Amino acid sequence: MSSLFPALTGAPAKRVALRFGDRSLTYGELGAAAGALAARIGGAGRVAVWATPALETAVAVLAALEAGVAAVPLNPKSGEKELGHILSDCAASVVLAAPGDELPDALGGLERVDVDVRAVGLLPDPQPSEEDPALVVYTSGTTGPPKGAVIPRRAIAATLDALADAWQWTGDDVLVHGLPLFHVHGLVLGILGPLRRGGSVRHLGRFSTQGVAHELNRGATMVFGVPTMYHRIAQALPEDPELAKALGTARLLVSGSAALPVHDHERITAATGQRVIERYGMTETLMLCSSRWTPPDPRPSVRADGEPRAGTVGVPLPGVELRLVEEDGTPIASYDGETVGEIQVRGPNLFTEYLNRPDATAAAFTADGWFRTGDMAVREPDGYVRIVGRKATDLIKSGGYKIGAGEIENALLEHPGVREAAVTGEPDADLGERIVAWIVPADPQAPPGAEELADHVAARLAPHKRPRTVRYLDALPRNDMGKIMKRALAS
Ligand code: ATP
Ligand code: MG
Repeated sequence: MSSLFPALTGAPAKRVALRFGDRSLTYGELGAAAGALAARIGGAGRVAVWATPALETAVAVLAALEAGVAAVPLNPKSGEKELGHILSDCAASVVLAAPGDELPDALGGLERVDVDVRAVGLLPDPQPSEEDPALVVYTSGTTGPPKGAVIPRRAIAATLDALADAWQWTGDDVLVHGLPLFHVHGLVLGILGPLRRGGSVRHLGRFSTQGVAHELNRGATMVFGVPTMYHRIAQALPEDPELAKALGTARLLVSGSAALPVHDHERITAATGQRVIERYGMTETLMLCSSRWTPPDPRPSVRADGEPRAGTVGVPLPGVELRLVEEDGTPIASYDGETVGEIQVRGPNLFTEYLNRPDATAAAFTADGWFRTGDMAVREPDGYVRIVGRKATDLIKSGGYKIGAGEIENALLEHPGVREAAVTGEPDADLGERIVAWIVPADPQAPPGAEELADHVAARLAPHKRPRTVRYLDALPRNDMGKIMKRALAS
């Protein structure tokens, strides 16, 4: 296979590839640093990468990919126990880190190699084959202990090229990045994506609405974020006309990793004129669905196929086969916007296996090779995919109905007294399961009453979607990507 990053040698050597704070690397410097490190680690089985939001992490992963060595990004905020689990699972013998990084004891048994971003070497040749593992990325652990998904080079190329098609993503794009680098979103889309196109990344270190506005005002064209970031943007907009102006100049605002609440999406559109492009994917499958970007068309009657629609994740990306199936595995033939099924997918963007988990790998695929995502959705008559939630935690079976937590959460978030909302099901003698709403009130001194909230939902959705119990919290339990950890919402 040819290089995943032709721009390392093909782009103008002086073009800035990566900037983190006040440190940056041009394409020429990046290729030289990755080449030097690739020569050093070539032949290692797997390398762990201490994935701080820094230039060194990007160089380390790139060097590993160029050397044909699988990289395992580690979350520097993981506890010793989780790190211990991942390290014994992935059996890396080397850890790549920035000089000066302090590594915890769990990494004591590994050989440490410091990444020198100013080193000079030649990129290796020939390149590894396309089925070779490129990354082992551990899932977010939202529903259980993280599993190591083995991602081949072919999947990275397929997903990045499908996104380039959907978003008209080119080397002229400059990305504002505020995500961590140890998950697919921040690493594959946010770092490898721009580098494959020959574009530039400006990493904020820590996300802030001011940082986003600052970069957009200096020529950045796209923003990748998780819903909690767009929530912060939506909250800040009424008091910050400069932010609204800056966001209005972006070519592309992209949200993913969890559902973007409709209420936040609508507030952003109202204040900036922009619609957020929502994309849906998983560690195991990389990207599956997205709405498409098309140049603005002044004629209101022109509606582009795949244009963003709040509450949906758009349509399957080019090359992705997607179907919804009933509980017994029968594919759902009609797109009626109502029938809920599990999403199953096939395509060149899929992982090969869970590391050391043949049982979990076998259970994840059907006999004819479809991957069971565990996510439930409906399809609109025109094919748009509307995620209902996870089969394990977001599908509530109450009074003979299958009810998705997501639409109730969206309805609750429209109530002015609600800042955050999560909906779960709890066993109920009468109904099978009872709908429980977990609320973080906007004003803790004056939370909206349970009856009022239940009425608010029932007025917008069907009566059987009315929450039976309302519980109040100071904050929802979330992981480092801002995903709500429903497992932690015990009754
Ligand atoms: P684990 O598999 O360890 O429980 P996880 O599923 O959260 O954790 P990831 O692979 O990071 O780990 O996340 C993929 C999941 O995130 C998807 O299966 C889906 O449930 C959710 N997701 C991603 N994008 C979206 C989106 N746009 N809308 C709704 N859900 C999304
Ligand atoms: Mg998962």
